[in-house]
Amino acid sequence: MPELPEVETLKRALAPLVQNHRLLDLRFLRKDLRFPIPREELRRGLLHQTTSRLTRQGKYLLLHVSEGALLIHLGMSGRFIQQPSMKVVEKHTHAVFWFEPDTFLHFIDPRRFGCLLWAPQGQGHPLLDKLGPDALDTGTTPKKMEEIAANCFRASIKTFLMDAHRLAGIGNIYACEALFRAGIHPKYPVRRMSSPQWKKLLSSLRKILKQSIASGGTTLRDFHSTDGSQGYYKLSLAVYGRENLPCPICTSLIKRLTQSGRSTFFCKNCQKK
Ligand SMILES: [Zn+2]
Repeated sequence: MPELPEVETLKRALAPLVQNHRLLDLRFLRKDLRFPIPREELRRGLLHQTTSRLTRQGKYLLLHVSEGALLIHLGMSGRFIQQPSMKVVEKHTHAVFWFEPDTFLHFIDPRRFGCLLWAPQGQGHPLLDKLGPDALDTGTTPKKMEEIAANCFRASIKTFLMDAHRLAGIGNIYACEALFRAGIHPKYPVRRMSSPQWKKLLSSLRKILKQSIASGGTTLRDFHSTDGSQGYYKLSLAVYGRENLPCPICTSLIKRLTQSGRSTFFCKNCQKK
């Protein structure tokens, strides 16, 4: 499943191909993905328009034009590939974009949990309104996190980190690894987090996201050869998926527990708080 670093990698790969280019043609091969595709709105908003920036918010990408933006989410299995023409060659191709002069991007999504939507200028989109701040955004400060956490009375820090309404785009691997690096127990109550703890946790989170982005490659070629999951396999994971293996710091055995239906991996000795 593509996570924040994979989406950022894709953004960097796509940006030179789609930013400040006119969209010459656009074709949809089905009516819906996770949500119905607003095909008429997208055609009206995007066709023959020159795009401006490609931006990321959590795991969403936004390709901006004057009237609004194309809102993209990769879901579980979405990806873009470059092809020599509009002609569909791969199974599960749901949309094809032609950017001048000759960039043909095919959107493929076998499981169809992705989305292609329209966010009108000045109105945004309900999916984005519910998102918490982005972990890599410089505006996401420890103070901001304390404010967001202020009304979370019962949540544990791990559950909080993975809630996109509080902090956008943090998957299980990054949550486990960041808590390990910050020395915080995954069950630690959010309401007890101090300013220095938030500072440490945010810095750990950013470091691991940046490492993952750096290892994810920055070309579309690299990206489309993967299923979107390659980035974190190149990371050296300290705890994730390492139950009963020695902790890289203290050598005691890594434990696993279940939180909100997801496996959490941690070191009892290094994550005491
Ligand atoms: Zn340890």
